[in-house]
Amino acid sequence: MAAEESKNQVNRRDIMRLSLNTIAGLTIGGVAGMLIKNSSSEEMVWQLDPNICIQCEKCSTNCVLPLSAVKCVHSYSMCGYCDLCSGYLEPGATSRDTGAESQLCPTGAIKRTFIEDPYFEYTIDEKLCIGCGKCVKGCGSFGNGSLYLQVQHDRCVNCNECSIAKSCPSQAYRRVPASTPYILRGDEGVKLVEKL
Ligand code: SF4
Ligand code: SF4
Ligand code: SF4
Repeated sequence: MAAEESKNQVNRRDIMRLSLNTIAGLTIGGVAGMLIKNSSSEEMVWQLDPNICIQCEKCSTNCVLPLSAVKCVHSYSMCGYCDLCSGYLEPGATSRDTGAESQLCPTGAIKRTFIEDPYFEYTIDEKLCIGCGKCVKGCGSFGNGSLYLQVQHDRCVNCNECSIAKSCPSQAYRRVPASTPYILRGDEGVKLVEKL
């Protein structure tokens, strides 16, 4: 377990060897911005551990930015591509469709796309995501846990005292070296390391 977690700790050296297309495919666009911002000196940044986060929703309300720097990301390798997606649909939704009344996400940030019967793909529009974690909780309760929260470092202004960290009830926020800013889930995180 510890070895697996450390494999999924993605560092800056790994990312620098990857194309931006690969990074975008992983829905971790913040990595690229962070590299530009921090390329000259090592510093400490805030890291969100999705294995400890309890999706209390404070990430969406306590960031100093008008739109939180915390976003939902998706591990496609862990996703079941379920028709009945508990991260996408409201509990008890009467129909499995894309109607606003069926969607769990308060901002409509999750796009549902038909792949082939009976599979659907779910993608996150980062511009609309407020980091509330409702989808993460839904996916973790009945699905595979493929949706999870991360701090996007191209948005985060790296406050000395992060107001989310101060209010986080589970100590899921930590100060870590900028070389290991993310904890990724699934094959996506492992593949980044294996590309070395
Ligand atoms: S360090 Fe500041 S900008 Fe970054 S997540 Fe925390 S409160 Fe938001
Ligand atoms: S439910 Fe919340 S965390 Fe999930 S995509 Fe929508 S805004 Fe983002
Ligand atoms: S404040 Fe902590 S527990 Fe709450 S959603 Fe953010 S990281 Fe998770």
